[in-house]
Order: sequence, then C-alpha cells, then structure tokens
Amino acid sequence: ARVDNPYVGATPYVNPDWSARAAAEPGGSAIADEPSFVWMDRIAAIEGTPGARGLKEHLDTALDQGADLFQVVIYDLPGRDCAALASNGELGPTEIGRYKSEYIDPIAELLADPAYAELRIVALIEPDSLPNLVTNAGGTAGSTPECAVMKENGNYEKGVGYALSTLGDIPNVYNYVDAAHHGWLGWDSNFVPAAQQFKKAATTEGATVGDVHGFIVNTANYSVLKEPYLKITDSVNGTTVRQSKWVDWNYYVDELTFAQGLREELVRQGFDSGLGMLIDTARNGWGGDDRPTGPGPTTSVDAYVDGSRADRRIHAGNWCNQSGAGVGERPVTAPEPGIDAYVWAKPPGESDGSSEPIDNDEGKGFDRMCDPTYEGNGRNGFSLTGALPDSPVAGHWFSAQFQELLANAHPPL
Ligand code: BGC
Repeated sequence: ARVDNPYVGATPYVNPDWSARAAAEPGGSAIADEPSFVWMDRIAAIEGTPGARGLKEHLDTALDQGADLFQVVIYDLPGRDCAALASNGELGPTEIGRYKSEYIDPIAELLADPAYAELRIVALIEPDSLPNLVTNAGGTAGSTPECAVMKENGNYEKGVGYALSTLGDIPNVYNYVDAAHHGWLGWDSNFVPAAQQFKKAATTEGATVGDVHGFIVNTANYSVLKEPYLKITDSVNGTTVRQSKWVDWNYYVDELTFAQGLREELVRQGFDSGLGMLIDTARNGWGGDDRPTGPGPTTSVDAYVDGSRADRRIHAGNWCNQSGAGVGERPVTAPEPGIDAYVWAKPPGESDGSSEPIDNDEGKGFDRMCDPTYEGNGRNGFSLTGALPDSPVAGHWFSAQFQELLANAHPPL
C-alpha cells in the first residue's frame, strides 16, 4: 500500500550524472549532493544517452546508494510543448501509439521490476501539457495553432491518462501531475477550468482520480515560493495590488499560496482529500543584492509592488534561463500544510532552451523567449524575455546560468 507522503522518512536518489557536472563547477560542491529528478525526455533516454545513464542503471544506482525514493519526469507526449519551441519533442501530434508502446510501456516494465519494489517512485507527469490546453488552445492572446491541434485530437489527455493508469498500476509508483505555476493558472478565468481539465485527463484511458497521488507546481519555472513583503490582500491608498502591472489581476503572488489554493480546488473537483503537492524550488530563490529587504514605497501601487517583490522577473510569463534567478529552498519533506515536499525537478544548470537556433537531433526548436533581445508575445505581455545570452539547447549544461544560480541562492548557500 502507498503511504500518505512518500517523502516522509525516505532518502532520495542523487543523480550522479547531474551531480558530477555540478561538482565540476567552481562552488558547485555546495549543492552537488542534492537530490533531483531524472528526466526521461525522449525514447532514447530510457536506454541512456551520451552523458546520461539509462533508466535501469539509474534505478540500480539508486539501490547502490541505499536510496529509497526515486524521482522521474515523464516528458515525451505527442506534439510536446505546443505553446513554445524550445522543448518540442520527437513525437508528432498524432503519434499517441508510439508514446504508449515505445515510451510509457517500456518505462512501466522497468519500474515494475520486483528488484525495485522497495523504492518509492515519484513520477512527475508531463510538464506544461494540460495547462497548455487550458490557456493556449484557442480564444486567448497567447494561443497557438499547435495547442489547438492537441486539444482537438485529444492526444495530450489520452497520453496523460494512459501514463497515469499504466504507472498507477505499479503499487510503489506515486503519480504527481504537473499543474504549471501561479503566473500561469492563478486567474479566475483559468484556475477552476484547469482543475476540471486535470480531472478530465485523469479519468481518460482507464485512469481514475485514484491514480493521482498529487500535483506539482512551478516545474522548471522561476515563480518565487513566498513573497515576504507582498500579499495579494495588500492595497496602496485604496487600490488593490491585484491592479498593479506585475500582478495583473492574478489571485496569487507566490507558489506556496497557489499550491495550497489549487489543492483545495482539486479536492473540490473530486480528487482525493489526501492529495499532496510538490513545489519545484530548484531555481526560484531570487536572492543576491537585488532582493528587497522590506516593502516598497507607497507612492503608487506599481511602485509598491515592484519595490516589494522578491521575484525580479520582467514579467511572470518569462520562463527561459532567467537572469538574476538563484537556487531556491533545498529539497525538504513536508515543509507546510498540504505540501509533500519542496523538490528539485529542473536540475540547476540545465538550459531551458537556446538563445539562437542550434541544430540538434532531439527535436528541440528555437524559441525566441530564450533570446534576450526578443520583445515578447501574448503570453508575456509583449515584454523583454529576461533570458541569459549564449545558452545551449534545452537540457544541455549551461555553466554561466549555474554560476548565477549559486550566486543568487535564497536561502543563501
Ligand atoms: C528539456 C529536457 C531536459 C529537461 C531537464 C527540458 O526543458 O526539454 O530535454 O531533460 O529540461 O533539464
């Protein structure tokens, strides 16, 4: 039987491939022993790729380490990353058959091996996919034709449903579905629709809400965990901070309040009342010299919000290799009510996408949100991207970003 919170009392696996790259950086040994997720980001990753061992070898190494918790990202849907280009995948929009037989089935076969029965296996299900169906599949400024196709053909929902039901059949697997972040789903126009979309996918292809152990927010994103000097209920001279340019009518300013609020809504929609949330804190530290030490001036609502906020992004829709970001809370178990753990889903130092087009055989495209000179699109309020220059293809090592993440860590290292 599954336990309520798989992180309690568990020793998580430290990925030696990532750890070696982190340790090779000046100052990197400060975090090289932290546990992070292993990404199965293409079919070839199951067997292993240059610089990354395969899934079986990871699982065996976990046992050698004496670990009893293993964290893996399931990330290879047909038509992947429909609102961006940086992490486009190898499977075309209609290739749901290959997703099942060449990707999910072989992963499930390995995870179900009795040799690993004592490992608690946390599976993070398909970052960004269902949120893209909610906000980017038609009708709004940020919509893309590619997301409209995936909504129309149902292959994100079928893929997520199949992953949940297949992996959910393995008694020691704990499925956590990706639920974007507050700067994506924090508005009343998409918050409840998102919870309903998750329910729909979780009851497709034989899946049930019982196959969902929890949800994760902020995967590979930069939204701050807690805003210490800014609350959504604050107002300045009678004007609510919700009206500021930065908050833009959102109901949340940070990930902890968003995760806890979303959890309640998900339970209301029929998910298990014991649902646990994870928050990716790998890169949402926002420390360093620019971090505010108190609330901003009350001269105007924008001055107050901009002076108060720890999240220093140009716009909360910016997501690629953010300049000024730092490593966030180190992984920890049950830090707050409703939260199973703070985890590192995105391994610090791995790029979000290239700042210029780069040929590759991983299906990765070039997204201008990773180009520091780009002036944005409907999903980031036509703002500058805040991306660091000279970045490599998504998933590849980006030393300059790793150095910034160390320097701006919060809590400090
Ligand atoms: C990339 C993956 C990579 C993951 C973790 C994603 O953005 O598309 O290839 O494994 O990040 O770094």
